[in-house]
Amino acid sequence: MSDTSQPGPKSRETIERFNKYVMSNYTRLPLVAVRGEGPYIWDADGKRYLDLFSGWAVTGVGHCHPRLAEAIAKQAAKLIFMPNTWYTEPQGRLAEWIATTSFGGKCFFCNSGAEANEGAIKLARLATAKEKYKIISFENSFHGRTFAAITATAQPKYQQGFAPLVPGFSYAPLNDLEAVEKLVDGETAAILVEPIQGEGGVNVADAEFLRALRDLCDQRGMVLIFDEVQTGVGRCGTWWGYQVPGVEPDIMTMAKQLGGGTAIGAMCAKPEVAEHLKPGTHASTFGGNPLAAAAGCAVFEIIRDENLLENTQKMGAYLKQRMLELKQDSPLIAEVRGAGLMVGVELTESGAGVAAACLAKGLHINCTHGTVLRIMPPLTITREQLDEGLDVLADVLNAERGTGRQTANSKKQ
Ligand SMILES: *Cc1c(COP(=O)(O)O)cnc(C)c1O
Repeated sequence: MSDTSQPGPKSRETIERFNKYVMSNYTRLPLVAVRGEGPYIWDADGKRYLDLFSGWAVTGVGHCHPRLAEAIAKQAAKLIFMPNTWYTEPQGRLAEWIATTSFGGKCFFCNSGAEANEGAIKLARLATAKEKYKIISFENSFHGRTFAAITATAQPKYQQGFAPLVPGFSYAPLNDLEAVEKLVDGETAAILVEPIQGEGGVNVADAEFLRALRDLCDQRGMVLIFDEVQTGVGRCGTWWGYQVPGVEPDIMTMAKQLGGGTAIGAMCAKPEVAEHLKPGTHASTFGGNPLAAAAGCAVFEIIRDENLLENTQKMGAYLKQRMLELKQDSPLIAEVRGAGLMVGVELTESGAGVAAACLAKGLHINCTHGTVLRIMPPLTITREQLDEGLDVLADVLNAERGTGRQTANSKKQ
């Protein structure tokens, strides 16, 4: 593992090119990634990093899984693109995978999470009574960067400077049923919620709360939308995040892990809701293109054939257990939460320094919402690889509180 995150000479050239020609809307790490394999990334100067973040849960089967790379290469040599005026085999197979691992709905394909949520919001307005158009979403949510998606994203920092936003949106605190009930009126079309808020700090929606939202939607003729962009495709140890609490949505949206790193998003809706998306109502040129759809099929096959849901449950439990052990003697850790391999570690202070110190030691994790370390390893992660990363994190957390004490596990290295 490397002990610095300063760019080397080969990285510097690319960084300079970015500074000249690429817009500066991202805060980038001073690293140029050139190769990935499983949970590891190499930068242009040959340094290796352990990736326990998977690019916001995109590279769920690890970097460049051989079966995924092969599926993409084979499809690229066969048919890369056809417009949606034609049927293509991979799109049909991927829709079947999504429907048969969830609630048997029908799919619409696009290219990103934000677009999937746009589609869901449009479909909710079409599928409910004519006077219904309002959407309720939740504080600290994240739904993407298009106009409807930032409007649904109830965090001021994502909306700043973009007013006027889309009319018809209102927000409630997560897990506060009374607040939701107060917002519902005869014009409310849908409730949009992440089963576990990712960007907002790995906040878990209670099973009873989701069940109550389900009842409320049934009683009031509203559509329940789950944003599964981050929780979906195995991340929580089940195919879909909603299968942990066991509450079914009417529409679920997905992206991130779906294409294993290729650009694809989708929404899946119950047949009686899906039928409202009639020809001409909605479309996406690249949506469900053969290349990305073939990648998506490979992701599902890999998860099934390598028993990755089981591995996610096991490794997730182990990850949580190790973090809870760490919590016992680290006053820095306030809470450990999440499901499967989507784990948040709430610190008692800012976590940016911890994430940066880990990176300098060759471990990539994320800090979100100021104080929450977000750990989302690929579903293929082994116990040894997890230990390799968690030992680094333990050392960083111990050093952070000034003791610099080694953990029992870190001596194994
Ligand atoms: C990342 C994310 C999105 C947005 O996805 P993009 O592909 O970046 O548009 C939406 N919802 C959730 C829950 C996400 O984590």
